Amino acid sequence: MTASEPTSAVLGGLDAVKDDLADLYRDLHAHPELSFEEHRTAAEIARRAASYGCEVTPGVGRTGVVAVLENGAGPTVLLRADIDALPVTERTGLPYASRTEGVMHACGHDMHATCLLGALRLLAGARTQWSGRVLGVFQPAEETAGGAQGMLADGLYKRFGTPDVVLGQHVAPMPAGMIGAHAGPAFAAADALRVRMFGKGGHGSRPETTIDPVVMAASTVLRLQTIVSREIAGGETAVVTVGSIHAGTTDNVIPDEAELRINIRSYTPQTRDRVVAAVERIVKGEAATAGAEREPEITEIDSFPVLDNDAAAVERTMAAIGDVIGPGLIMDPGPVTGSEDVGYFATATDPEIPLCYWLFGGADPAEVIAAQKAGTFERDIPSNHSPFFAPLIEPTLTTGVTALTTAALAWLGGRPS
Ligand code: ZN
Ligand code: ZN
Repeated sequence: MTASEPTSAVLGGLDAVKDDLADLYRDLHAHPELSFEEHRTAAEIARRAASYGCEVTPGVGRTGVVAVLENGAGPTVLLRADIDALPVTERTGLPYASRTEGVMHACGHDMHATCLLGALRLLAGARTQWSGRVLGVFQPAEETAGGAQGMLADGLYKRFGTPDVVLGQHVAPMPAGMIGAHAGPAFAAADALRVRMFGKGGHGSRPETTIDPVVMAASTVLRLQTIVSREIAGGETAVVTVGSIHAGTTDNVIPDEAELRINIRSYTPQTRDRVVAAVERIVKGEAATAGAEREPEITEIDSFPVLDNDAAAVERTMAAIGDVIGPGLIMDPGPVTGSEDVGYFATATDPEIPLCYWLFGGADPAEVIAAQKAGTFERDIPSNHSPFFAPLIEPTLTTGVTALTTAALAWLGGRPS
């Protein structure tokens, strides 16, 4: 099969705007902003979307931007891009690398925003080919999990209408030009916990007068490794990572407390509850074993739900994209352990709105093939959040704009009569 006539007509506008979109991508990449601080990014998005003819509302859920294309009767399609960057120091050496020390678009959200602007531009330029409403949702603060909920709490659906489908995409270390979608639970739930363990401080030369929180924390970190290996069934997936551990200031003082930051990934509520309960049990147990006089404090920092892709929505959307880019370029990556808050846009209503969220490749295909042959993929191909993460601008940009635009058209109404 080949693309429908209206889809070809809309995508026909892409060649003329590619260079401009690449310039926009380099500009956003050079000017990354952290979660809920995306002021320059949001202003640039709003300015561009308005110039394409969208009705633009900034400041939705703090720094979010909504760009609406009204085009007569028909379905409402939500296209979502996240826009925030990470506290990472860029080491790509690219000419358009981050100009802000310690902040980087290391997750590719600059590519997501560029692709969504590209899709809005193509759809706005070919209104005779489709009917309905497009809600372009530029979401802040995906990395810290507050952005999607913030926009919903700010009345996203009351103010702009409830969509019939939620569509979005994430750039990933797959070969550029490829699309990956998995039906069902596709991205893991993530829970971040802060744990404070309390000991009793004193002189480094007199441990007998203290309760050492450094040893308590060290022992806890090791014991936490047994949750996945000893308490979760072989066929279940869970990840427990202690990403941060802090205690003390110098060598000859035993401190009075230690802090751990723990990240948990899971795909079912049962596994999640089991892992969280095991973390609590082990933390409290290790504190008791060390003779701590005060119970540890465990606080949830943030929480992402499982992202559940609607099977029928995935089939319909991927069939349409396959007709344009060729079905051989679409694969099923299986569930990934990354997490995403885009699912909130689907679960905010009862019944839920169908969601299709897919990955698109950003890595150099030749480098991926070489690394796979050498068995060094994990080492050689930088993943999201790496200081070396650098999607190839092309064909990544073309694929991302094509996929999002085609997906939107697969759900919008046809040519108005
Ligand atoms: Zn990320
Ligand atoms: Zn991301």
